[in-house]
Amino acid sequence: MDTDLFISLLNPAITLTLAAAFLVLWLYRRDRFHLALVVAAYIGSTSGFLLQNFALPFGLPATKLLSNTAFALSVVALSGAIISRYGRPVPWLGISLLALGGLSGFCWFMFVQPDLTWRILSTSFAFGAISLVVAAEIRSLPNRGRIESFLLLLAVLSALNFFARPLIVIAIEGPYASLEGFQSSLYWTTALLAHAVMALMIALCLFTAEAADLMRALRSESVTDPLSGLLNRRGFEARASAILAMCQAARLPASLIIADLDRFKALNDRHGHAAGDRVIAEFAGRLRAAAGTRAVAGRLGGEEFAVLLPMADAAAARLFAEAVRKVFSGDSIAGLPREVRVTGSFGIALSAGKECLEELMRRADEALYHAKRDGRDSVRVSYQRPPELPAPSSALAPA
Ligand code: GH3
Ligand code: MG
Ligand code: MG
Repeated sequence: MDTDLFISLLNPAITLTLAAAFLVLWLYRRDRFHLALVVAAYIGSTSGFLLQNFALPFGLPATKLLSNTAFALSVVALSGAIISRYGRPVPWLGISLLALGGLSGFCWFMFVQPDLTWRILSTSFAFGAISLVVAAEIRSLPNRGRIESFLLLLAVLSALNFFARPLIVIAIEGPYASLEGFQSSLYWTTALLAHAVMALMIALCLFTAEAADLMRALRSESVTDPLSGLLNRRGFEARASAILAMCQAARLPASLIIADLDRFKALNDRHGHAAGDRVIAEFAGRLRAAAGTRAVAGRLGGEEFAVLLPMADAAAARLFAEAVRKVFSGDSIAGLPREVRVTGSFGIALSAGKECLEELMRRADEALYHAKRDGRDSVRVSYQRPPELPAPSSALAPA
């Protein structure tokens, strides 16, 4: 077999395999449109490379134009995939115009003023410019992690590959006069190598990004309560313990509120379990809105909830709980008769010492029990005093 042909078939083989891998991934995650774009991109580059090796019945120049159009579509699709992966609007018009500009240059230097060197440069520079657009988009991402930094590096390398490599190779080998022997030129050999490496690295990076997304989603699912959207008991305890420890290390107060809906069993019996579920979701919504981003809110189970308020003393926690209690008990609930009101009872415990979350929850539960015993629809604060704070150490303290 002709060695040049064998080597040139390596690239379509690689990109076809990658297209198949991303197709399988996309079939699993149909909601992720950017995966379909990656498939299209790799199929585009497979077709582009295959067309480089043969002349179709309508002649070599038209076959080359078709091949370069496939490459351009591939670059546009891959760029769109990377940008839309991060939920950013894809500048389709801008990148399509750049690709069209490159193809127009290609047509001019193919059909009007034939020049192989300028054909190479016009498409290469257009693809380089599109790579820079992708690099700029990734650079402006607000939370750039390791994967995004690597993708940014790949986009910059891709731009270098399209801008610098042709110029360097042409400086070494001189301008290319014709397609005679072009397949074994330094330009084409380096193009094949660079493409194979870039295609594999980008695919690996995108695969890793998908795997990371999946792991993040699974982790978040394992600590989220699906009905209320709040943290479940496990998630709440983990997050609240960490924040409590931070407050204690900084000797700042933190308060824990435990809330329990009143006579919920009777509500379920009277209006049905589905209505009960709606009430739980509604109460969780109130709690989440009040907690904002500063506090940690969770559903401990059933109709019982907890909120850890960092940097809040008992008075602040009481205000918080009273506000939630009043707003919730004052509103009617969608799906329930207008006159039906659901109330909640709240227990509060303030931590200022080294008390662990479990102990804090026990005290808040005790306060909640008092609220229930005293007639429900109310807020009670734990009567137990938290352990005394150790005296602050000071550099100026006498030795
Ligand atoms: P109290 O005022 O003393 O808290 O009375 P209660 O009826 O609210 O308390 P109890 O603990 O006896 O009943 C809680 C009820 O919550 C029992 C259970 O059927 C109901 N429940 C637990 N989880 C869910 C849920 O996910 N959805 C619905 N609809 N009901 C639930
Ligand atoms: Mg209850
Ligand atoms: Mg309960």
